Amino acid sequence: MEAHVKLRPVDFATDGIFVAGLAHNPKDMDESIMQAKAAASRALTFITKKAILVEGTITEVNEDRCSGCGYCEIICAYKAIEVDKEKEIAVVNEALCKGCGACVASCRCGALDLRGFSNEQLFDSFEALDLVDVLGE
Ligand code: SF4
Ligand code: SF4
Repeated sequence: MEAHVKLRPVDFATDGIFVAGLAHNPKDMDESIMQAKAAASRALTFITKKAILVEGTITEVNEDRCSGCGYCEIICAYKAIEVDKEKEIAVVNEALCKGCGACVASCRCGALDLRGFSNEQLFDSFEALDLVDVLGE
């Protein structure tokens, strides 16, 4: 499935991977060639850059808490986190992470935080805004 049917029709959800022709769905030759040209053009927008800026809001792993269970790896739709087999600790690919937070919510060990949105940072914000009572803490 493409990243967005209207806005990113030849991109996959994972950055740097593009789709064209029958890999996408059944279509005739003209449409396949048109889509292949679009995919090649999209690829050029990446490979002609000297540097690529990535998201600032990404997941960070607390290695002391990670048990290496691999649940986050299963959850991530962008293939941005995987368990290092030797160290048995989750490792984030910062270039692929979209900061969606799905892995953070799924980690039962509390080993993941979104940069800038850790529990401590959120509760500090609530305290500063005097929202702790409202939220029942
Ligand atoms: S779900 Fe949590 S404990 Fe399990 S591998 Fe991922 S970060 Fe580590
Ligand atoms: S924040 Fe989202 S994109 Fe990033 S590693 Fe977690 S699930 Fe994957």
